[in-house]
Amino acid sequence: MHACVLGAGVIGVTSAWQLAQQGWQVTLVDSATEPASGASHANGGQLSYSYVAPLAEPDVLPHLPTWLLNPSSPLRFRLRADPRQWRWCLQFLQACTHRAAAATTAQLLSLSYLSRQVLHDIQSTHAFDFGHAKNGKLIVYRTPSLLEKARDQVKLQADLGSDQRILNTQELIQLEPALAPAQAHLAGAVYTPSEESGDCARLTSALFKELAAMSNVNIRMGTTIQALQRTGNRIQALRTSQGDLIEADHFVMAAGMGSQPLMAQLGVQVPLYPLKGYSLSVPCAQAHVPAISVTDYERKTVYAKLGDTLRIAAMVGIGASNQGIETDRINLVRRQAQSLLPDVDLSAAQAWAGYRPATPHGRPWIGQSRAADNLWLNIGHGALGFTLACGSSHLLSSLIRQETPAIDPIPFQPRS
Ligand SMILES: Cc1cc2nc3c(=O)[nH]c(=O)nc-3n(C[C@H](O)[C@H](O)[C@H](O)COP(=O)(O)OP(=O)(O)OC[C@H]3O[C@@H](n4cnc5c(N)ncnc54)[C@H](O)[C@@H]3O)c2cc1C
Repeated sequence: MHACVLGAGVIGVTSAWQLAQQGWQVTLVDSATEPASGASHANGGQLSYSYVAPLAEPDVLPHLPTWLLNPSSPLRFRLRADPRQWRWCLQFLQACTHRAAAATTAQLLSLSYLSRQVLHDIQSTHAFDFGHAKNGKLIVYRTPSLLEKARDQVKLQADLGSDQRILNTQELIQLEPALAPAQAHLAGAVYTPSEESGDCARLTSALFKELAAMSNVNIRMGTTIQALQRTGNRIQALRTSQGDLIEADHFVMAAGMGSQPLMAQLGVQVPLYPLKGYSLSVPCAQAHVPAISVTDYERKTVYAKLGDTLRIAAMVGIGASNQGIETDRINLVRRQAQSLLPDVDLSAAQAWAGYRPATPHGRPWIGQSRAADNLWLNIGHGALGFTLACGSSHLLSSLIRQETPAIDPIPFQPRS
């Protein structure tokens, strides 16, 4: 069998990897010249296996007015004359119920645990160096009442198998001394010892390099997919910017935000919307850098030591006009980082902005598209694409090969 995978971000590369390992012929296509050039390039580096609650949750609603009016809030919303934006926002608000958020959390946990198992299985045979660490995660809270509320989520996730515990400020500083300069502002934390971190782009590139050396894999970088040619219920070929057609038995759509216009050409609206985020990559051959991954809950900022780089990621922009770096937003990330870690030197930090390809409810779409029998989707991983990539691609590969999947695929089934 021959599969053509559209997109060489972390989702496309792990999809290609799963199929190629099964002996399938694989063609991997991307418009960029290097893998992980899109959202997978400089993300937060969190392998957030136990902390997968969707963005759409009831607590968002009371915070919305403050977030929308405050220029220092993690969320920036720009209203566009774009029905796609309005539809996405409406569906997002509809998903902000306790029932929907609890169901999505349980479904994402099943996928994230599969992801962890698949990544560890890959690592048992391939010694990829991607700054991977199993140092756990601290979600730090500034407001005592919010820390109290976090107990409910910890309890919900404990029932679903997560090992998490609440730390007071003293216990927090004992565990992560790098946070000592900010301790007067911290109420405590949720500590999850099993969480991991790593550099998404480095893992993607390492897998890509292995794929490029396999005789059953054909790599087509620098090749923009212009259209999918459909006859009846089947995709026959991709039309590319290089003027040729790529034929295959199956096609896997893993083009991140680029999946949306390609599917629209087939008359299918996928509910993806870009949520813009920022990161700083700081050379960290310096003291005062946390060894444990940290999430500053109220500021929605994450910190991860990825080998010799401290990655700081933050901000959600809805309705951004382009992927450029807005000075006020990146300066806000800097100020927030400096207030939590005042002794870390940010002068050599590299700034980056990317789009999270998000569905309104927070669940990716993994499985057969209704647009064609041989078109498979692996899209919409939002803020969790690195965490969910290995599990999503394992699930997709089982479905294409008509094998029994390791987890229930129904919650992730594409609706179009
Ligand atoms: C600021 C930020 C922080 C994040 N932090 C984390 C984190 O800590 N942990 C986590 O799990 N996730 C995180 N994420 C989310 C994660 O990065 C994404 O979910 C993930 O990278 C999506 O991967 P993808 O392969 O679907 O998309 P992409 O990486 O965007 O890949 C899509 C690829 O498709 C290609 N493509 C698109 N259209 C075409 C076309 N027409 N022809 C040819 N090629 C095409 C693009 O060139 C691109 O290479 C973060 C995201 C951002 C923006």
